[in-house]
Amino acid sequence: MGIKSLRDWLEVLKGDGLLKTVSREVSLKYELAGLGKKADGKYALMFNNVAGASIPVVTGLASTRAMFAAALGVPAGRLVAAVAAAQAAPRDCVMVDKGRAPVKEVVELSVDLGKLPIPVHHEKDGGPYITAGVLIAKDPETGAGNLSIHRLHVLGPNKLGILILPRHLSHFHRAAEAKGKPLDVAIAIGVDPILLLASQAIAPLGFDEYTLASALYDQPLELVRGETVDLAVPAHAEIVLEGRLLPDVREMEGPFGEYPKYYGPASPKPVIELAAVTTRRSPIYHTIVPATMEHMLLGAIPREGGMLQVIKGAVPNALAVHLTPGGTCRYHAVIAIDKQNEGEAKNAMFAAFASSQEVKRVVVVDKDVDIFDPVDVEWAIATRFQAGRDLVVVNDALGNKLDPSSNDGLSDKMGIDATVPYGSDPFRFEKIRIPGEKNLDLAAYIDKP
Ligand code: MN
Repeated sequence: MGIKSLRDWLEVLKGDGLLKTVSREVSLKYELAGLGKKADGKYALMFNNVAGASIPVVTGLASTRAMFAAALGVPAGRLVAAVAAAQAAPRDCVMVDKGRAPVKEVVELSVDLGKLPIPVHHEKDGGPYITAGVLIAKDPETGAGNLSIHRLHVLGPNKLGILILPRHLSHFHRAAEAKGKPLDVAIAIGVDPILLLASQAIAPLGFDEYTLASALYDQPLELVRGETVDLAVPAHAEIVLEGRLLPDVREMEGPFGEYPKYYGPASPKPVIELAAVTTRRSPIYHTIVPATMEHMLLGAIPREGGMLQVIKGAVPNALAVHLTPGGTCRYHAVIAIDKQNEGEAKNAMFAAFASSQEVKRVVVVDKDVDIFDPVDVEWAIATRFQAGRDLVVVNDALGNKLDPSSNDGLSDKMGIDATVPYGSDPFRFEKIRIPGEKNLDLAAYIDKP
């Protein structure tokens, strides 16, 4: 069977030469993040000698689409389709006993975050941040589970400040707070790229991302009961922190260098009080260096899968969607459609905007354009788009607060229809090509020196 833990995945990476180890001493302040950033898009790094820490740190678990595809066991071209298919067919998880859960090898009912190797990533960060923690919570009204990743600012030995954007966890927190009650949470650190991907699904409130993980694993995800919280946690995680999101408590959190490559500012934010930590006997800590491709693709891939479903609902002949790295893998989408009717490009845009509040620019192209090639996409805009005819602008919709150009989250949406007008003379828009070029082996023709 496939992988089901961080360790399984590290074995795969090792076998492919994509895990490099660092035995030289490395500082948790900037140095580790800087090295992680340099390896981004190439290979994962395991730091075995972190100054002042006894636990090794891994970063860059998957920083290319090919690496994520390998984790899922699908060809890179099928990556998004595989996520979309899994989301359409979620599977149940299975509870296991403590004795079969490696994350319960060590159970401590008091928490000292100082024992974990939590890095300071960027120059103006407010302090050490947990960046690769999958937060597990339940809807206090319906009991439905939810997974999400948040930046977690270490504010004390057992205290974390948390940024909660207006999504599912914020809904739970508001509901609990309205009753003056704390909300149980658990934070799993050191999980494989599949669970990380699942946690980032674009799914409706009430959809438990654990069930997407099971579908992606193609086997039930093994969960185990929390020690101090009424939650099921991943049995094969390296580290699980348990605690409560406190009602009516706010403390300064931030600044923090975020995925748009800007700092999210410091402001009063909700606080998690930790009550327990459970780990493997010799745990591995995972950090995601913000704004690296590891971070960006974790956002992009599940979003693309979820978005494609929504877009296909509106335009069945939509083929693929790409959230571009230059657009922070969140804000700018490119959609390819096999246009059958005039106007479909605009319907695809509306569906994309509706599917994710973060999307602020959508370019729609025909199927002869490579949506992963920024030059090809720009070529389509240059030669098939006229602003007076093909541009759609919507003012002041809900966008993303981390976009510094937004008005505290209010954001304009722009759609660019770069598809060929339906029914136009096909020759006028036919891409030039040289017959046979694709199969010519240039090196075989050039004289040997
Ligand atoms: Mn959710």
